[in-house]
Amino acid sequence: MAIISSKKQPPEPGGEPPKPPRKSRQIPKPPPSQDLLLPQATPEEQDKQEESIRPHRFADYIGQKDLKGVLEIAIQAAKSRGEALDHLLLYGPPGLGKTTMAMILAAEMEVDCKITSAPALERPRDIVGLLVNLKPGDILFVDEIHRLSRMTEEILYPAMEDYRLDITIGKGSSARTRSLPLSKFTLVGATTRVGALTSPLRDRFGLIQRLRFYQVDELTQIVLRTAQLLQTAITQDGAQEVARRSRGTPRIANRLLKRVRDFAEVKKVEEINQSIAADALELFQVDPCGLDWTDRQMLSVIIEHFNGGPVGLETIAAATGEDTQTIEEVYEPYLMQIGYLHRTPRGRVATPTAYKHLGLKMPNEQLSLPLQQ
Ligand code: ADP
Repeated sequence: MAIISSKKQPPEPGGEPPKPPRKSRQIPKPPPSQDLLLPQATPEEQDKQEESIRPHRFADYIGQKDLKGVLEIAIQAAKSRGEALDHLLLYGPPGLGKTTMAMILAAEMEVDCKITSAPALERPRDIVGLLVNLKPGDILFVDEIHRLSRMTEEILYPAMEDYRLDITIGKGSSARTRSLPLSKFTLVGATTRVGALTSPLRDRFGLIQRLRFYQVDELTQIVLRTAQLLQTAITQDGAQEVARRSRGTPRIANRLLKRVRDFAEVKKVEEINQSIAADALELFQVDPCGLDWTDRQMLSVIIEHFNGGPVGLETIAAATGEDTQTIEEVYEPYLMQIGYLHRTPRGRVATPTAYKHLGLKMPNEQLSLPLQQ
C-alpha cells in the first residue's frame, strides 16, 4: 500500500522533477459513499439475492458483441462435435461480466460450473480436489488467475493440455510420479492483468478474449432489466442517468440503481425519472461522469502540481493514498477510456477534457490571457 504523505515527492526516473506546488484548490474530503463506485463486489453483492439479477442466458447478457459472437460460434462447434469448449481466458477490469459469462457458457453447454479464485488454491491439493471431481464438459472458473502459485500452475499445465493429473508420491530418491486421467473439462480463467500471466499458462488457452467497458445505451438496458427484476418503476431517462454515472461497469450500474431506489422509496416517489436519479446520485456524491474522489484527486494532482504531467505512477499513488495496482487496474482504465488521461512512457498526462471537467484552464490558455489584454 502506498504511504499517504503531504511532503514533496522525489522526482521519479523518467518523469519530470516535481514543480513547487501551486496554491491548490481544496479537494473535498472523500465522501462516505465513495465505495459506491468501486467495481469489485462487496460481500453483500456476493450473496444469493444478487444472483437473482445476474443474467443466466446469452440473450440476457447485454453488450460485449464481439465476445458473444466468438463464444456463440465456439459453443456451436463444441456442441456439434460433442466435445468440451476450448480453454478460455477472459480479461478486463472488474465488474464487466467475466464470472457471469462463465456461468452462461455452462448453462448454454448444459454442464456444471465450479467457481473458485487463485487465492483459494494456495495448496496443490486444493486444485487437485477440484480437478478430480469435474465431469466431462464441466467448466472450472478460476478468478484472478494471474495470482496462482507456481505449484498450482504446474499441476494445471498437463491438466489443461492432456487432461492428465501428474502426482508425485513420496520424497527424495523414493519419489515416484503417477498420472491420473481427468475428464475433458474447460478452464475459464479471469484476470484484470493479462500481462501478469506466465506465458506457459497463457499459451494453454485456446481463446483469449477481452471485455470492454460498456456504452451508456448498453448500461441503460442493463439498468432497465435490473429495475424490472427488482420491481422498481423507472423511466428511460432515469435509467440513462444511472447508466451515465456507472463508469462503464454493470456491477456499478446495478449498485447505483439500488441506492436510487432507496432514495425514491424514502421520498415516496412512485417512478424514478431523470431528475430523481440525478438528485439521489448527487446526494451520494456520484459525479455526473461517475468519477469519485480518487479520480478527481488523481487528475487534480497531475494538473495542479505537475502542470498536467507527465507524472509517475508512484507519485500519483502517494498523493491519493491508493496502491499503484489499484490505480493501474481500477482507476486508470476508465479515465483513459473517457479520454481524461493518457499513459506515456514518461508518466501520466491529463488531457484538455480533464481540465474542463475540473473547471480548470489549460496552461497555454492561462499564459495567453494576459497577452490578449
Ligand atoms: P466480473 O466477474 O467481471 O467481476 P461479474 O460477472 O461478477 O463481473 O458481473 C458483475 C454483475 O454485473 C453481475 O452480477 C451481473 O448482474 C452484472 N452484469 C455483468 N455483465 C452483464 C451484462 N453483460 N448484462 C447484464 N448484466 C451484467
